[in-house]
Parts: sequence; C-alpha cells; structure tokens
Amino acid sequence: MISTKCLIIGSGPAGYTAAIYAARAEMKPLMYEGLQPGGQLTTTNEVENFPGYPEGVTGPEMMVQLRNQALRFDTDIRSGFINKVDFSGAVHKCWADDGTEIHAETVIIATGASAKYLGIPSEQHYLQMGGGVSACAVCDGFFYRGQETVIVGAGDSACEEAHYLSKLCTKVTMLVRKDDFRASKIMADRVKKTANIEILYNTETLEVMGDGQLVNGVKVKNNVTHEESIIPCTGFFVAIGHTPNTDIFKGFIDLDETGYIKYAQPGSSRTNVPGVFVSGDAADKTYRQAITAAGTGCMAALDAERYLASKH
Ligand code: NDP
Repeated sequence: MISTKCLIIGSGPAGYTAAIYAARAEMKPLMYEGLQPGGQLTTTNEVENFPGYPEGVTGPEMMVQLRNQALRFDTDIRSGFINKVDFSGAVHKCWADDGTEIHAETVIIATGASAKYLGIPSEQHYLQMGGGVSACAVCDGFFYRGQETVIVGAGDSACEEAHYLSKLCTKVTMLVRKDDFRASKIMADRVKKTANIEILYNTETLEVMGDGQLVNGVKVKNNVTHEESIIPCTGFFVAIGHTPNTDIFKGFIDLDETGYIKYAQPGSSRTNVPGVFVSGDAADKTYRQAITAAGTGCMAALDAERYLASKH
C-alpha cells in the first residue's frame, strides 16, 4: 500500500501541469500515466497553437518535455493505470492495474477523453502515419489551408469543425450517414449556407485512400443508391464524438448524461467529492485544447493544495 498527499490519474497536458504545480508546492505527487502515456497529443503530429513554441513542436515531443518538467520537481511517475477507485471514505482509495493499493488525501483526475474514429484499417493507417487523418480541425486544419478536405459526422462538433475548415480550405465535403443532421438547426443551417461546403447525405466512408504515406482521397458509398465514388482530398477529418475516460469513477463522481465529470462549483476544479478534483478533457466537451487542459491542471493542483492546507 502506498500513501500519498496527491494522486494524479492521467498524463496528458492536464496531468503533467497538475504534477508540476503540485510538486513545486511540495505535495510529492504520485502520477499514474495511464494506458496512453502523454494522452491524445501523442497521436498528433505538429502542435502550432501551444504558446511558447514559435516554431511548433510535435505532440509526442511536447509530452516528453512536460514529463521531464514534472520529473525535475520529483513527481513520482509510474507506468500503469488506475482501474478501480473507492471515494466513499475520508481517505480516497485507488487501485493500480498491478494490484497496488493507493491511499490519497487528494486525487486529481486527468484521464482525458478519446476521440471516436470509424475504425476502418485505412483510416487507422494514415492516422498512425500522421499522413492526413485527424479528429481535431482546430488543431490540424491549418495544415490543409488552400487544399480540399473531407469531414465525417453530422453533430454539432462536425458542423463547427466543417465551418472552421471552410475558412482555410478551398472545399470541404461533409459526409452525413443519414438523410439529415443530428446537429442543432442553427449549426446545420450555417454549414448548409457555406458556399464551399458540399454535404453528401446517406454517405458512408469505405476507404481512406493514399500513396501509403499521405492521404489523396476518400472512397465513399451512398447507402441508398449503393453508388460508390472517390472524393479527392488531402485531409480526412473525423468528428463523430468523443468518449470521456471516466468509467471507473461512476457511482462516486457526478457525471453528466454523456459521461463527462460535472464540476461541483463553476470556476473551480472541485467535484462532488471533497478532495477529488478534475482537470482536462474528462470534464470538457467544449474546448478540448492542450492549453485549456494545462490551465485546468494548474487549477486542480492549486485547489488540492488549498484543500490540504485547510485540513492540516
Ligand atoms: P454527437 O454524438 O452529438 O454526434 C455524433 C455524430 O457523428 C452524429 O451525427 C452521428 O451520426 C455521427 N456518427 C457517429 N458514428 C458514426 C460513424 N461510424 N460514421 C458516420 N457518422 C457517425 O457528437 P458531437 O461531438 O457532435 O457533440 C457532442 C455533444 O457536444 C453534443 O451534445 C453537442 O450538442 C455538444 N457540442 C456543442 C457545441 C456547441 O454548442 N457549440 C459544439 C460541439 C459539440 P448519426 O446522427 O447518424 O447518429
């Protein structure tokens, strides 16, 4: 069994920033990195919108730097993930996948969210190559300026991202699998009125095409007429939703209907359980940026520090 003043669960920009602040406040944080050390940014190629990197930085490189910064102040970083929690008592109990039991005075949740993908092999291939598949237009749209892109999805996110891309790209083709949008009327109308967005209804993705390195088109099928066609593009964006990684907290932490953690108080990182704080995408379905995750990681560490100070 390990006792700690502060357990940080997750290691994206939220978790590492919380670790840097907690460690510098001499809370000797213990961090479990989770299944994907570094988080979603490790699947991103170039990050150009994180302040302080005028030349840009790759997602994996930035995560190594954040990790090193957390280590510099003696964060105890462990590989492995937390697979069970019990927040019912005064001490917060958590269990790691190797069976280690952790008793924490404070817990900072930084487990993030995972973008949903279609799951077809060609999409996963170009995603891993960094060759033109992305689940974040705000992050990666800039690389496709002056080019043609395709986006899948029909919710508010897809509409927002398609509109964002339309300002950068010569043409955006939107693939909607049903005969209508799921998005709110106002968001769908905005997309419909944008001249360089073409909407293909009843259309599904069969294959992301390319030369093995870079995307050059998407093969699609109309699920009513069964007609197949190829849409030339250099970027393929997937905007079919995100899943917050919050399953282990069910029953202890208040979640909204889609699984995102609810803040107990606006303007703070507090959850409904005293001593448990949340940061990053596990509680954010709106902004989902590295910089906002880092900001809330800082808030969570400061809130945890103040909570401990009020107890001792
Ligand atoms: P949603 O779950 O609302 O929408 C997902 C969309 O992806 C649906 O249109 C769905 O199609 C489609 N989809 C799912 N799987 C597939 C697939 N395999 N192939 C093709 N299409 C697929 O997710 P969002 O991320 O859009 O939104 C999440 C929440 O966040 C919502 O509550 C939304 O309102 C909110 N939000 C609000 C914003 C705002 O107000 N500014 C901006 C962004 C999000 P189908 O309709 O056929 O099921």
